[in-house]
Amino acid sequence: MTVSQYFSGLFKGIASLIKGLTVTWKELWTPKITQQYPENRATLVISDRFRAELVMPHDENNEHACTACGICQMNCPNGTIKVISKTVETEDGKKKKILDEYHYDQGMCTFCNLCVITCPSDAIKFENTFENAVFTRGKLDLRLNREGSKMREKKKPEPKPAPTAATAEAPKAETPAPKPAAAEVKPVAEAPEVKTAPAVEEPKAPEVKNDTETKE
Ligand code: SF4
Ligand code: SF4
Repeated sequence: MTVSQYFSGLFKGIASLIKGLTVTWKELWTPKITQQYPENRATLVISDRFRAELVMPHDENNEHACTACGICQMNCPNGTIKVISKTVETEDGKKKKILDEYHYDQGMCTFCNLCVITCPSDAIKFENTFENAVFTRGKLDLRLNREGSKMREKKKPEPKPAPTAATAEAPKAETPAPKPAAAEVKPVAEAPEVKTAPAVEEPKAPEVKNDTETKE
């Protein structure tokens, strides 16, 4: 090692030390953001986008939007979801698949959100309720559809009223209206013809001159 290499390494080390101490000094005076949990439970604010627990929202009629299609189960990368369906007969005699039980093993979930993104019915979502610690693994196997709940029926579109004779004729009466408007423009184009009137008076002047000539 030469003398220049020795001093070069020495100065680099001192510069690195000063840089590190500067960061430490700044952080020493920065306001602290440590959460005093659980003492601050009442005022603790968790971000809405924090994924803590998969839930299936039910409305006031105990109805959910899950059609038991199983797409979320197919897209879950580690088998966290288990959709159990059953077939029932509707009032008009048709067979229909409905949700029987929807199981979600929270202990297996990686909170990747793939199930929520791929659900075509927006039937599931993540809540930010983060206090989910339990003493046994079995308590992490949750059933998301409530007891006695059922699928929310989609509202049938209201039939459109049949067009009456009066409503059918109304458009015909309105369509010819623009044609008269176009006809009204033509008289405006004919206005310059009025300006040619003084040109008729000009030939009269020579007639007066002719009279004087005859008198002479
Ligand atoms: S968040 Fe991911 S791992 Fe958890 S249930 Fe949904 S798809 Fe499965
Ligand atoms: S939660 Fe959505 S994707 Fe999963 S079974 Fe129900 S409707 Fe299908």
